[in-house]
Amino acid sequence: MLVHERLCAEYGAPFPFFSTKDPLSELISALLSHRTKNADSHRAYQQLRAQFPTWEQVRDAPTAEVEAAISACTWPEQKAPRLQAVIREISTRCNGPCDLAFLAEMPIAEARAWLESISGVGPKTSAATLLFSTLRIPAMPVDSHHHRVAQRLALIGPKVGTEASHALLSALLPPDWDAQQVYDHHEALMFHGQKCCYFHTPACGRCVVLDQCPFGQQRLGAKTQPAQA
Ligand code: SF4
Repeated sequence: MLVHERLCAEYGAPFPFFSTKDPLSELISALLSHRTKNADSHRAYQQLRAQFPTWEQVRDAPTAEVEAAISACTWPEQKAPRLQAVIREISTRCNGPCDLAFLAEMPIAEARAWLESISGVGPKTSAATLLFSTLRIPAMPVDSHHHRVAQRLALIGPKVGTEASHALLSALLPPDWDAQQVYDHHEALMFHGQKCCYFHTPACGRCVVLDQCPFGQQRLGAKTQPAQA
């Protein structure tokens, strides 16, 4: 994986895990972060925790109070009932306790399927719950930066959407990679999208994987073509 090695070297892997949340807290945090700036979803999460110290309290609270607590994130009116429904669903399936630690005992595909069978939980959220939380299970989330870079590098086709890209990109990873390696891969591609492979004008001229990138080569080639007479 030349791309992996170069991007990891460029951005300073191994990257320390940023989260020490338990898996249910990570799941809630991921749901809050949907289409929200990190700082805003972090504020919403902190406020929610300050107001309701347990997830059972969030589940049983009046929805308007949950909505007010998470008002720092986008669409609190949609996210508040969804969070409560997710926690309710987990409590029902687990016969009471709001705890996802048991996912550590399942094969990864089974754990992902368990999470994704909850309404409102997609592949990015399931992978984030397993990888970023204290479970540290090697499931790979794909965010919009990661997806764009993978598409430009032709790791996936131009029409593959973010959701569908999860299975395809995960299948390209060595099966024996541990959580740190999967995390480094995700972070390195994400950093590349944030710091070089920009959405509008990627900085292909200073890109460390230009020789691996059909999109960048075509783009630079087109720029250096002599003007037609
Ligand atoms: S060459 Fe350009 S398009 Fe390709 S990965 Fe690098 S910055 Fe992105």
